[in-house]
Amino acid sequence: MDPQHILDLYEWAPAVCFRHPELGEVPTAVVGVVHPAADGEREVRGCRDCVIAMEDIRREAAARSGSEYTPGHVGDAHH
Ligand SMILES: [Zn+2]
Repeated sequence: MDPQHILDLYEWAPAVCFRHPELGEVPTAVVGVVHPAADGEREVRGCRDCVIAMEDIRREAAARSGSEYTPGHVGDAHH
């Protein structure tokens, strides 16, 4: 699948990637939500490379388990 097609499924906003803080502010999408005890709920944002990498993992996991892979849901709370 064309990576750009996958990236188009996400909403992008400038922020610091959770895995690449050294890059500073880059276009990021929500890739998860964490619940630190102190402050409720916090979005985890990842850069393009991270979103593609996480989609690859989901696609491989779906192929292994025989379930259907639908891109665009890396950041969903339930998957
Ligand atoms: Zn990243």
